[in-house]
Amino acid sequence: MVYMELFFYVFIFIFGLMIGSFLNCLIWRLYKEETVLGRSYCPKCGKELKWYDNIPVFSFIFLKGRCRFCDERISWQYPLVELITGLLFTLSYYLALNNNFTFLELFFYFFIISLSVIIFVFDLRWYLIPISTVIVGGLTVIAINLFLGASILNIFISMLIGAAFFGVQYVVTRGKGLGEGDIWLGALFGAIFPDIKMLILTIFLTYIIGGVTAVILLVFKLKSVGSKLPLGIFLALALIISLFFGSDIINWYFSLIF
Ligand SMILES: [Zn+2]
Repeated sequence: MVYMELFFYVFIFIFGLMIGSFLNCLIWRLYKEETVLGRSYCPKCGKELKWYDNIPVFSFIFLKGRCRFCDERISWQYPLVELITGLLFTLSYYLALNNNFTFLELFFYFFIISLSVIIFVFDLRWYLIPISTVIVGGLTVIAINLFLGASILNIFISMLIGAAFFGVQYVVTRGKGLGEGDIWLGALFGAIFPDIKMLILTIFLTYIIGGVTAVILLVFKLKSVGSKLPLGIFLALALIISLFFGSDIINWYFSLIF
């Protein structure tokens, strides 16, 4: 039985690597506004990749991080996104086994992880939030949450609070503190967490992670005061932490108070 369990873990990990590989491709094509169909190609020389140059992580190691044709460096983003997606999928599966998740709940985890990866990479590389992904992702999340038994009113209220939180900042700072995309993310997070405690925790975590990162970057002189940090990357990190540990953190917090 132990072997069987191990087999499923390995299977989920490989599945996660493949989804990570797909996300890398999706991120690039969303940015270039291309269709997701068609063969993968090198962004530098445009040559189509062979199937064996497309194997998650292994191809990167085998090719020593360079394109087979033009020798252009392949970004570390590719194997990292694949590995992190694989690991987070495996962690979701572990949680699912220990908490008797339904298949839909496990799918919900996979879906949120994928959304976070897209938002993180997009905002880190281009200081942009892919609005189309946020809208399609948000509608899917609403549908899943309704199926999981959340009320439409709770989802709506939570979305409104999420959007309003960043909307007010956007208006007050006249768009300098954060971008329009962050308001959309606020609404998306509301749809993900109809439980307002979870939404508030996620926003709170965003500012903690952002603050700590800013201090580290300043101390090591990697950024100067007044330089911009994309809020989306911290929102994506906070989302992952809330997804996996949110209810534990909230329970722990309330046990301190009462
Ligand atoms: Zn190339």
